[in-house]
Amino acid sequence: HAKAQGRGRYEVFAPAMQTVAMARLQLENDLRRAIALQEFCVHYQPIVSLSTGQLSGFEALVRWHHASGIIYPPAEFIPVAEETGLINELGWWVLQEACHQIGIWQQQFPHTPPLAINVNLSGVQLKQVNLLNRIEDILQETGIPSYCLKLEITESCILETVSREEKMLKQLKALGIQLCIDDFGTGYSSLSRLHEFPIDTLKIDRSFVSRIGADNCGVEIIQTIVTLARSRGMDIVAEGIETPTQLQKLRELGCELGQGYLFSKPVDSEKATELLGIKVGVVS
Ligand code: C2E
Ligand code: MG
Ligand code: MG
Ligand code: MG
Repeated sequence: HAKAQGRGRYEVFAPAMQTVAMARLQLENDLRRAIALQEFCVHYQPIVSLSTGQLSGFEALVRWHHASGIIYPPAEFIPVAEETGLINELGWWVLQEACHQIGIWQQQFPHTPPLAINVNLSGVQLKQVNLLNRIEDILQETGIPSYCLKLEITESCILETVSREEKMLKQLKALGIQLCIDDFGTGYSSLSRLHEFPIDTLKIDRSFVSRIGADNCGVEIIQTIVTLARSRGMDIVAEGIETPTQLQKLRELGCELGQGYLFSKPVDSEKATELLGIKVGVVS
């Protein structure tokens, strides 16, 4: 009887699973083609000083302009790009593009300190043995100072690093490149391990910011993260600021930097150039 039931289930679920597998294979092939055809573009989200409203730089966020006309957000293709290793090639393209663009903006909009660019780095990319050399090459080609490049690595990736990767992070740091932990607070990290990494900035995950006003828990976690960062001389960036209430609370908590729809959504390079022209004086 159980067997019959099992077979029945199999018959029901097999086509669905096959559909999922097919869709994934299709996406993988599509991604390969898209990389060859350069269907990607980089959008830029301002990172601003919460006290003065001054724009300090941008986070580079990749988008896929599919041949069908649809623009895919990274959540829909980064996981497959990571599983297939295609993230390496895509990641190099994003890094090159973003560094090139910030170099142009640094000349067009002189700023003290110069505008910085945050680029997301996947855990898969950290495993590339030539990572350090290629980043050095990109900095040289684009002529931006190393301290203007901030690499974002998620908390969960940082915790999975092996010693070779940790050594490389230290070498990146020695070059002057800055390291940020992205989505901080979500990785269930033992905070005690944090000091093993040469981290400059903690980015407070959006889930905590969005809880401001809803309950006290978000605020308490943010307070803890700010205290931790201060004690280690790290900067703080709050992600996903959407309301004036959140902004006000984050200022009170001592968050110096932030990004979110309240200031600007990620925009293409043309719109970002316009924003730079008017200096995004959104904060009152
Ligand atoms: P992330 O690095 O944490 O980037 C922040 C995400 O939050 C972005 O989503 C951004 O559009 C979104 N966001 C910013 N402000 C707000 C807000 O006020 N409200 C809301 N609801 N969302 C906000 P996006 O662009 O869809 O990127 C999602 C994730 O994909 C990124 O999260 C990052 O982990 C990954 N990603 C994006 N570009 C790249 C890339 O070039 N390489 C790698 N490896 N990962 C990338
Ligand atoms: Mg990020
Ligand atoms: Mg983040
Ligand atoms: Mg996030």
